[in-house]
Amino acid sequence: MQKQDLINLFSSNSDKYYRVSLFDRNGFKRQSCTICRKFFWSINDRRFCPDHENYSFIGNPPTSKRLDFISAWNEIKEYFSDNNHTIIRRYPVVCRWRDDLYFTIASIVDFQRLMRGKVVFELPANPLVVPQICLRFNDIENVGLTGRHYTGFCMIGQTCDADAHGGYWKDRCIELDYGMLTNKLGIKADEITFVEDVWMGAGAFGCSLEYYVRGLELGNAVFTEFEGSEGNYHAMNNKIIDMGAGLERLSWITMGTPTSYDCNFGNVIKKLIESVGVEENSEFLSKYFGILSSKYTDYEFDIKSLKNILARELKVSTEELSKIVSPYEAIYTVADHTRTLLFAISDGSLPSNVGGGHNLRVILRRALSILDRLGWNIALEDIVDMHIDYLKSMYPELQEHQDDVRTILQIESSRYVGSRERMDSIAKSLIKGNKTITVEDLIRMYESDGITPDFLMEMGTIDSIPSAFYTKLAELHNSQKTVQEFKAFELVDKVRPTKLLYYEDESIREFNARILKVIDNHYVILDQTAFYPRGGGQEPDGGEIEGVRVTDVLKHIDVVIHKIDFPHDKEIFVEGRQVRAAVNDRRRSSITKHHSATHILNSSARNNLGSWVWQNSAFKDENYARLDITHHSALTREEIERIEKTANDVVRKNLPLTIKIYERGEAEQKYSFRIYQGGVVPSSNVRIVNIEGWDIEACGGTHVGKTGEIGLIKIVKSERIQDGVIRLEFVVGDSAIRLIQTQENYLNKIANVLGSSKEKVTESLEKYIEDSDATKRRFRALLKKTSNIIADKIAHNAKNLSTGIRLYSTQDDVLGEEYFIAVGERSIEADPLLIFIALVMNNNGIRVIVFVGSQAQKTIGAGRIAKEISAQLGGSGGGNDRFGQGGGKLVDSIDKCLKNIEDTIINMSSKNDKKEK
Ligand SMILES: [Zn+2]
Ligand SMILES: [Zn+2]
Repeated sequence: MQKQDLINLFSSNSDKYYRVSLFDRNGFKRQSCTICRKFFWSINDRRFCPDHENYSFIGNPPTSKRLDFISAWNEIKEYFSDNNHTIIRRYPVVCRWRDDLYFTIASIVDFQRLMRGKVVFELPANPLVVPQICLRFNDIENVGLTGRHYTGFCMIGQTCDADAHGGYWKDRCIELDYGMLTNKLGIKADEITFVEDVWMGAGAFGCSLEYYVRGLELGNAVFTEFEGSEGNYHAMNNKIIDMGAGLERLSWITMGTPTSYDCNFGNVIKKLIESVGVEENSEFLSKYFGILSSKYTDYEFDIKSLKNILARELKVSTEELSKIVSPYEAIYTVADHTRTLLFAISDGSLPSNVGGGHNLRVILRRALSILDRLGWNIALEDIVDMHIDYLKSMYPELQEHQDDVRTILQIESSRYVGSRERMDSIAKSLIKGNKTITVEDLIRMYESDGITPDFLMEMGTIDSIPSAFYTKLAELHNSQKTVQEFKAFELVDKVRPTKLLYYEDESIREFNARILKVIDNHYVILDQTAFYPRGGGQEPDGGEIEGVRVTDVLKHIDVVIHKIDFPHDKEIFVEGRQVRAAVNDRRRSSITKHHSATHILNSSARNNLGSWVWQNSAFKDENYARLDITHHSALTREEIERIEKTANDVVRKNLPLTIKIYERGEAEQKYSFRIYQGGVVPSSNVRIVNIEGWDIEACGGTHVGKTGEIGLIKIVKSERIQDGVIRLEFVVGDSAIRLIQTQENYLNKIANVLGSSKEKVTESLEKYIEDSDATKRRFRALLKKTSNIIADKIAHNAKNLSTGIRLYSTQDDVLGEEYFIAVGERSIEADPLLIFIALVMNNNGIRVIVFVGSQAQKTIGAGRIAKEISAQLGGSGGGNDRFGQGGGKLVDSIDKCLKNIEDTIINMSSKNDKKEK
């Protein structure tokens, strides 16, 4: 269904869909815009809708009160709380409860959960209001420039389930919003316009009323009441009100400052202006942003052409305009970007090159480049401190992670500084190359070298940043996660859910069951099972059904499918038959220990490294497990040891693990979104695995009863597998013991070879290396002393060729490469007519070493000889006229090669003669 069809549907019956009781009571009349035909409601007669209206509140606010960001929230909080709404704390900006989003993009997202592709709403209170910080990265280039765009903003979410206890519908909603505007903010009733619109998404839709004051949209009340698609929809059982109002706008309308940035960052803007010493020119800025904000619509102008128009209207040149405005734009942009980074990093996201972290690195580098360009010496983390200072009364949780945010910003800033030198040289070569730089070039430079367009502007490589840059970049890194699809087991859909014995009693290893279905003679579905299927990174159980080996166990929605070796006796596996099955106990208990250890290590890593550590993914098998965590740098040996030690302390404390099922909303409220380490739980109940006093996660896996059962956790390896993700590979219990035994065997072997004891192996090895080094030194000294004598002897033994040059060739498998290089060099010094060729055998085959004396070089070069001889030996070579080298693997060809070497050289030099003539 198209949006316009819906608008027509609702507008044709506006009495039913849009006319609320307040409109009649207070004299709001329905009117149609003479420009765009939209319908709207206002008290005064108006010719057109607010879309075409100037921001006349700038410099002249229509309210009785002046409210900044925090005080606007306090008023709103008080108002809705007085009107029986529960005020809830914001949700994280990192959207861990939805598979399809990296960041929370709207307040309603807090309460949406995806279940089998369908959105369900779960409200922790009804009705409620939440001051939700939302992050959006689709408009980065407008941020700081238009006066009203943000990458992070606060959406006041007034949310209500109309059909649940405490719920209300359109009349009450609009009455409340009208009351907020008039009573709380002191806006006169005839300043308010309600515009008819619709909203659709995620399989549901409804009408909406947007409310405007003096051209500024303050909020949008969406009434979601239908489910389904075109031509096939029905009313929802629980209708949802989703009113979203931008807090930054509510504050702005009361303050009437030139931009909304001026009144929403506390004194951050003022402090930045002071510290960089920008001249204040608020009268001009008021005019500029007043005209800009009202002229700027997403469709008509881009910001650059708009600036030219504005310069004319304000009677200044474009350069003068830019000189006054751009320092302010810079300050606004940096203020926005640092606030967004503060929330995102606080909530556990890291700047990186992949996924959602990509957006964070883009704005971080943009902020750093801007500061760089203007030569402003302010650290991002200090600006973040200013934000926290201002925001802490509203969002006290920001203080908790203050140090962590500072650490991450410092690391990222120093990485930026570290790459500056390379960026400098690339920028300089671009200036020299004098080539036109396209948006695609810019994107490539950002992607491969981290060079932002702001930096190139600073270097004078480009004059301005193409407006499409950040949009295209964002498109490349689609901000939507890919949703994994279930493998289609269509036949399974009709089978009833399997009874999961492994959840009822984890200790069950043998059980009876009835066969419900057999597919392709390979897949068996039972009415109940103790086989744990592959899932959540835990590998499946092994075992047998009626003596036939189970090779894999899968789960499709709520049906467990056993894959079996093709049975010899088809009679056994028939639908309806009772069977006896046994789970391999050793495999299950080892996987279980590895799984519980994953939880322990995850918390250990977070405690030792920082709050940004989350599980990125995990894999648990019988003899091995790995845990991928989010962290900014590769781990040091010392960090790995600390993580391992803390984890084993937890093992030794023998802490009990308890498993309990919670209603999802309750679990989220009680334990926070930290529980979603292993990803989203696609059901309304979550299974909480609690290692008491240590770690709490939502998890469907099998676990030990007490941490002591794990015995031992040994980290085998750690590596950085992608930007911002570190892999820990580890083994536990018996596997750990076996690993240590194997390593000890290696150690014993080494000690034996060195003729030392195990305890003294390091000393013996050091001594061995020392001896070996000394031998090499003695060999070199000897070579230096004797090479002159050897060189003379070689010159003496060389063969005179008809061309007047002389040839010496040899083969060797004892003295080694170093010897022949030293001797060859000396020989051609002693005899400038000499060609010296040595074929040296080593483990990889034959090395070819060629030296040609200065006189002989006139006839033939060493590189050409090396190439030819190497080719004869099945390899390749090259070099300059004096020295050539190469190699080959055809050891059997050495004799033939040496026998023919004279002819080879004569042939080559005669060809050379012809060429020169
Ligand atoms: Zn209009
Ligand atoms: Zn788990």
